[in-house]
Amino acid sequence: MLNFPKAFVDNMKSILGESSANFFDALNMPEQKAIYVNLSKILLNEFKAVADFDIDPISYEKNGFYVDNIKRGRHPLHHAGAFYIQEPSAMFTVNAVDFIGDEYVLDMCAAPGGKSIQIANRIQKGVLVSNEVNLSRAQVLNSNIERMGLKNVIITNDTPQNLAKAYANCFDVALVDAPCSGEGMFRRGQEVIDSWNENLPTLCAKRQAEILECADACLKTGGKLIYSTCTYEIKENEEVIKNFIKLHNYKLVNIHAPFSRGINLPEAVRLYPHQVKGEGQFVCVLEKLEDNNLTCNSTLKLQQDKVAAQFISQNLTENVNGYIYNDNIYYINKPELIKKGVNYLNPGVLLGRVEKQRFVPHHQFFSAFGNSFINQLNLQIDDARVAKYLIGDQIETPFKAGYGVVKLAGCPLGGFKISDGQFKNYYPKGLRNLKNL
Ligand code: SAM
Repeated sequence: MLNFPKAFVDNMKSILGESSANFFDALNMPEQKAIYVNLSKILLNEFKAVADFDIDPISYEKNGFYVDNIKRGRHPLHHAGAFYIQEPSAMFTVNAVDFIGDEYVLDMCAAPGGKSIQIANRIQKGVLVSNEVNLSRAQVLNSNIERMGLKNVIITNDTPQNLAKAYANCFDVALVDAPCSGEGMFRRGQEVIDSWNENLPTLCAKRQAEILECADACLKTGGKLIYSTCTYEIKENEEVIKNFIKLHNYKLVNIHAPFSRGINLPEAVRLYPHQVKGEGQFVCVLEKLEDNNLTCNSTLKLQQDKVAAQFISQNLTENVNGYIYNDNIYYINKPELIKKGVNYLNPGVLLGRVEKQRFVPHHQFFSAFGNSFINQLNLQIDDARVAKYLIGDQIETPFKAGYGVVKLAGCPLGGFKISDGQFKNYYPKGLRNLKNL
């Protein structure tokens, strides 16, 4: 049995009344795991046909499935970016708004990246600026976006205050999935519970208000602000939103979903572990009403690279524009969102770099544009070459020369080069699966 602090227990009893007993029973159950199927790599029916483990649909996320608690991180389909492991109630947040598909979206607190991956899949013609203030967490975010092969994500490692200056009035939607006291993570174990203290919600609420100020500056008039946390504290949820509305010209948007409503804030929803399979989430949507006629700031001018262009015309079936940024070559789907003074960890898809007048492709190029390479080796899940490729070995291909992509059940897994008849494995050393799959 987990041991909860008295202040937390008293607070939950006052919020939930009689049903608090069910809530505490649920907190003593194991965590519920889920996966999000990444449509940028694989269609849903194809995933269902190849997945060799049980999946159970989540009602509010058409690409989301509950799975058992067995770890899936080493699965070859995980390497190929066919799915992302995500907490199921956190998957609801992005579903609180309807995306058209061409929006400019900001995810202010994005790592490790579950909600960014969901958003990027929904806005194939738009762009997502996915920000994480903590560098090591931003690197994890970057590798998750890389594995998913997403082409419409710009990753920044910056403060909300700096983004507010550079990106004033730029976005149709801003998500603040705020750092919080994390009560929705209590099922992870006693250590997580013991790191909580009763002053934390007040400290978090102050930081949440500061982040919301910055997200507001980044939004266009008419834009939507999504606010979510994985905590049950009224101070960090309803009170933060009510204080924000007092100071800003916004209206609350009713979320249509069959969950408990916010406390004295019926437009918002609360997902509790005794009512919904998952850890818990608070979600609220606001619309910006202020009419200010201001436009997004000017853009950095980027040059295209000729050596990369030659590589692309020789090895791919489509043209991909490669822009030079900080000595690397990137594909950037909306270059107008690359601004001066922002710390970009990755302004798009890292295609590679030019060394001694030769183009050296990066793994992200193969992951994102694998379907456009002329040389493609599509393997099925039971092919012994999948495991060999993932540990960095040579494998047999029908190709005589040039660069190409290894695919798993249609999902680009990574690159290779054939030169002098030898297979050179381009699957990055840091990602190789050194234990048996
Ligand atoms: N949205 C993420 C997802 O779906 O995977 C989870 C985000 S997590 C709840 C909150 C994030 O906010 C953390 O990665 C944390 O590093 C970041 N953070 C912490 N302090 C922050 C601050 N002052 N401003 C912006 N982000 C902050």
